[in-house]
Amino acid sequence: LIELRDVNKYFGELHVLQDVNLTVGRGEVVVVIGPSGSGKSTLCRAINRLEPIHSGSITLDGQPLPEEGKALAKLRSEVGMVFQSFNLFAHKTVLQNISLGQVKVRRRKKHEADRRSRELLDRVGLADQADKFPAQLSGGQQQRVAIARALAMDPKALLFDEPTSALDPEMINEVLEVMQQLAQEGMTMVVVTHEMGFARSAANRVVFMADGRIVEDRTPEEFFTAPRSDRAKDFLSKIL
Ligand code: ATP
Ligand code: MG
Repeated sequence: LIELRDVNKYFGELHVLQDVNLTVGRGEVVVVIGPSGSGKSTLCRAINRLEPIHSGSITLDGQPLPEEGKALAKLRSEVGMVFQSFNLFAHKTVLQNISLGQVKVRRRKKHEADRRSRELLDRVGLADQADKFPAQLSGGQQQRVAIARALAMDPKALLFDEPTSALDPEMINEVLEVMQQLAQEGMTMVVVTHEMGFARSAANRVVFMADGRIVEDRTPEEFFTAPRSDRAKDFLSKIL
C-alpha cells in the first residue's frame, strides 16, 4: 500500500533520510523505533508529504504522492496523521473537530458527518464528550478525539508519531487500546513509539532507524529476542 524506494532527504548538510526503502502492506502495522534524531518523524512526515524528499520515490497504492493542490489535500485525508500534540481546534467542540474535515474534504452533509462523528466517538469510548471543548478533556481523551478525527476521513492508512509521549502514564493505555483495536480490525498503520509492549503485541514488523537509515526491519519476535546490529542492541539495552 505504501512504498518508499531509495528515499533521500537533507536538511541543509544533514542527510536525514539515507536510501530508505520501506514497504507497508495493506493491513500491516509497522512500528518505527530508534534514537532521538534518527529521522523517524521525518519519515512519517515524508509519507504524508508534509516534508518533500530530494530523491527516490514514495507511492501510495502504486501512485506517486501528489505535489500540491486538491490531490495533496486528498492524500492527507487518506493517510491520516496523529501527532504527539493532538492538534485539535481549541475553539471547536469535540464533535465539530471530527465533523469539519468530513464536510470540507469529503463533502459530506453536516448531519451525516455528525452521525459518523458520534459513531466514532462511541468507538473510542467518548460518546458522552461530544459537546465539550478540547481543553475540558484529559490528554488521553484529546488524543482519542484526534484518532477519531483521522478515522472520520476513512483513511487508507494512519501514521502515528509518538501518540502517547505527551501523556501522563495513566492515560497511555487508553490510547494504546484504541490503537490495538484498530490494528486488529486491519487498519494499515505506521507507528513511531517508545511503547515496546505495543510493538510486541500489535506490530507485524519493527523498523529500527539510526542516523537516517533503516538498520533493521524484522518481526517484533526476531527484533526483540535477537537484534542483529550493535545500534539496536545498544538502543534496547537503554530502554528495556
Ligand atoms: P525524536 O525521537 O527526537 O522525535 P526523530 O527520530 O523523530 O527524533 P526527526 O525529527 O526526524 O528525528 O529529525 C531527524 C534530524 O533532522 C534531527 O537531527 C533533527 O534535528 C533534524 N531536523 C528535523 N526537522 C528539521 C527541520 N525542519 N530543519 C532542520 N533540521 C531538522
Ligand atoms: Mg520525532
